[in-house]
Amino acid sequence: MFDIKFRLISMLGLLTTVVIISLVLDYFRVLCRPVRLGLGIAILGITAGFVLTLNAVLPENRFYGPVFSGVQTSEKLVALTFDDGPCPPYTEQILDILQERQIPATFFVLGYNVAQYPDLTRRIVAEGHQLGNHTYTHVDLLKLNRRGVIEEIEKTNQAIAAAVGYAPHVMRPPHGFRDAVVMDIMAEYQLKVVEWSVASRDWLNPGTAVIVDRTLRRVKNGSIILLHDGDGIAGRLPRTQTVEATRLIIDRLLAQEYRFVTVDEILESMEE
Ligand SMILES: [Zn+2]
Repeated sequence: MFDIKFRLISMLGLLTTVVIISLVLDYFRVLCRPVRLGLGIAILGITAGFVLTLNAVLPENRFYGPVFSGVQTSEKLVALTFDDGPCPPYTEQILDILQERQIPATFFVLGYNVAQYPDLTRRIVAEGHQLGNHTYTHVDLLKLNRRGVIEEIEKTNQAIAAAVGYAPHVMRPPHGFRDAVVMDIMAEYQLKVVEWSVASRDWLNPGTAVIVDRTLRRVKNGSIILLHDGDGIAGRLPRTQTVEATRLIIDRLLAQEYRFVTVDEILESMEE
């Protein structure tokens, strides 16, 4: 059967070629009467490329398939999610904060880091949190071929299963980037793709107060909040700001009577 699933990168390559040919035709005044067809096609091509790329990077967009980026609910529920761990000492510090307040969260872990820190991965699960697949090496999945994407997903599922005894059923692509093929593979592996509705850009370490303020300004019922307990597989950047911001965000939201749940629970609360 003809497979209409295309890679974003191939499509952008094709569109670039079409745009260049159209502009050359326009330059030599070919296909210019009654309207400048070449120029028109070039503008359409650029617009199409822009729209396709935007759909691949915007967290809430469903053009390439179903993603969850926050839910409609009348309940005061929010889900905290932490990406790129496990990464000591930040993951432990966040776990301590969550434990003190008896709050569940979801950790989108990197397979490489799980293999480095299986005990810490087990602690996440033992304390009632949910695990998600965030790939093995935090590579941009749009740059890999189908086999490469599958390897990143399978190796991470295997590392998680080796540490805690089961593989997760949710995943978050690095940077949130996905296209039709990535979505197809996630469906094949029965992994729900979970993005976010609140991002404070904590990964840039903009300051604890900024992380807290940006998060609290955007939070509403059903929000999925993106934070980071690690920084890729290298873990170069410290996450001290995120740790401190997490404590403040939780306390402010508790004061506003929000209830914290895992990604699974917030997805279950979805109202039509
Ligand atoms: Zn990440």
